[in-house]
Amino acid sequence: MRLLIVEDERRLALSLAKGLRAEGFAVDVVHDGLEGLHLAATEGYDLVVLDIMLPGMNGYRVCAALRAAGHEVPILMLTAKDGEYDEAEGLDTGADDYLTKPFSYVVLVARIRALLRRGGGGRPSPVITAGPLRMDTAARRVSLDGTEVQLAAKEFAVLEQLAVHAGEVVSKAEILEHVWDFAYEGDPNIVEVYVRTLRRKLGAELILTVRGAGYRLEVPR
Ligand code: CA
Repeated sequence: MRLLIVEDERRLALSLAKGLRAEGFAVDVVHDGLEGLHLAATEGYDLVVLDIMLPGMNGYRVCAALRAAGHEVPILMLTAKDGEYDEAEGLDTGADDYLTKPFSYVVLVARIRALLRRGGGGRPSPVITAGPLRMDTAARRVSLDGTEVQLAAKEFAVLEQLAVHAGEVVSKAEILEHVWDFAYEGDPNIVEVYVRTLRRKLGAELILTVRGAGYRLEVPR
């Protein structure tokens, strides 16, 4: 899952990003509304955390512009305590939820997970099943034939991308885009490393390599 944080308070933005990365999300951060709008409109984010008072363009206008252009990405708005935020106005512009500063980090993560489950883009329930595999994306648990398997955050995220598209080919680029963030400039073959680990933990036959195209999570018919 890849998130965009648009927040001009740099320390807050960076600490949120750090925490969310530790949860296994890929996170990009920008500090300006126009830049946020551009990225949110052009990159494939699963959710946008959007501050209201921003340089360049305020959060209401960013949100309204995204919706006007047909983008359904879930948007969680952040607001200061001084009542700058008008809930009606925010929901009017198409935000999915809002959070008043200062908020607890735990609450933020819970709201993000709730929005991802609800899915602005029509994402189904938090539990994904594909053959013997069962992933509870809310509880972050994976089981294979009923036996729980321990996965690290990034391993979980890679498997989730494959499981959401079970039976279809998922390209390495697609996995990179959703699991690693913008700043990642390392070797794209890192995806292979994670697939190898997943095969070791889940059995070699679950994830198939489709030469020149990517990977496919096999679902028995
Ligand atoms: Ca601000």
